[in-house]
Amino acid sequence: MMRLLSVMAMSFVVACAAAPAQQSIAVQATAPISAPAIEKIDKAKPSEDEMQARRANFAEAMLDVAERQKVFADEPLRFSLSGAFTQGGLVFGATEPGATVRLDGDDVMVDKDGRFVVGFGRDSALTSLFVVTLPDGVVERHSINITDREFPVQRIDGLDQSKVSGFTEEQLEKIAVDSAKKKAARANTQRLADWASGFAWPVTGRISGVFGSQRILNGEPKRPHSGVDVAAITGTPVRAPAPGVVTLAESDMYFEGGLILLDHGHWLESAFLHLSQIDVKPGQRVEKGEIIGRVGATGRVTGPHLHWSMKWAGRLVDPQLTAGEMEKTDNSSGD
Ligand SMILES: [Zn+2]
Repeated sequence: MMRLLSVMAMSFVVACAAAPAQQSIAVQATAPISAPAIEKIDKAKPSEDEMQARRANFAEAMLDVAERQKVFADEPLRFSLSGAFTQGGLVFGATEPGATVRLDGDDVMVDKDGRFVVGFGRDSALTSLFVVTLPDGVVERHSINITDREFPVQRIDGLDQSKVSGFTEEQLEKIAVDSAKKKAARANTQRLADWASGFAWPVTGRISGVFGSQRILNGEPKRPHSGVDVAAITGTPVRAPAPGVVTLAESDMYFEGGLILLDHGHWLESAFLHLSQIDVKPGQRVEKGEIIGRVGATGRVTGPHLHWSMKWAGRLVDPQLTAGEMEKTDNSSGD
């Protein structure tokens, strides 16, 4: 369950739904940067111009040092992080409105209230660096540790071989068309932080497949499982786990079958696969808990279930970590 530790100097903290391996941390400054080395003076007497240039350089260097010291004197830091600091985890942040955030050198979208979200993939590095620039120019840096996870191997036999390998020209063409549709749907994201109120399970039932498992399909090693599978009977309502805007609603994708892509904002997306019915259209805004479709057994499946995957900025993350423990399991049956 969620372990909430102290959170420093923040007006609020974005806490996602209870989930394993979740925690809040109070961030701490890294060590101050040492003063720049001052160049040695040559034996030959420098000219007056050169001396002037050196004095100017020295003054600039000292100003720089003062500036950096000011940065690190401002503890406690003015941003906080909470979430799953593990491979496949989402981490939610809060800082001051107008701040900019970079994660490992890449810009992170921040909403008008100073909230942001980042994700760590299945094979992510085990450390990451946040650099937050506050509206008054103060820069704060904080590195975090990401815990390593082990992923199981899952063998699935009995799949229609035409969905596994040996594709015909026609099938490859369909796969390429599907791929282009997904790419187009993912070209943009909305600025609303629709992820901020946390995630609920879109369907409850037995978990029949976990994120990141090494898949062996009909005996062939394939890419790791991209999401979590929940077994449920065909026709079970699928509810939006959080608000969002539908970016794709297709009933007949080659692998996914009935597919909905839902943009929760800030490059965080949910995908719902194998649906038997789709109740939304691209561009439509949905609220948390709203029915968006029905469980089915379309695409590459051995039985009816919902496959739910999540991506942040193109990285697959684990929905199970974010949705946490399931409150009840019903809709049992299926694979
Ligand atoms: Zn799946």
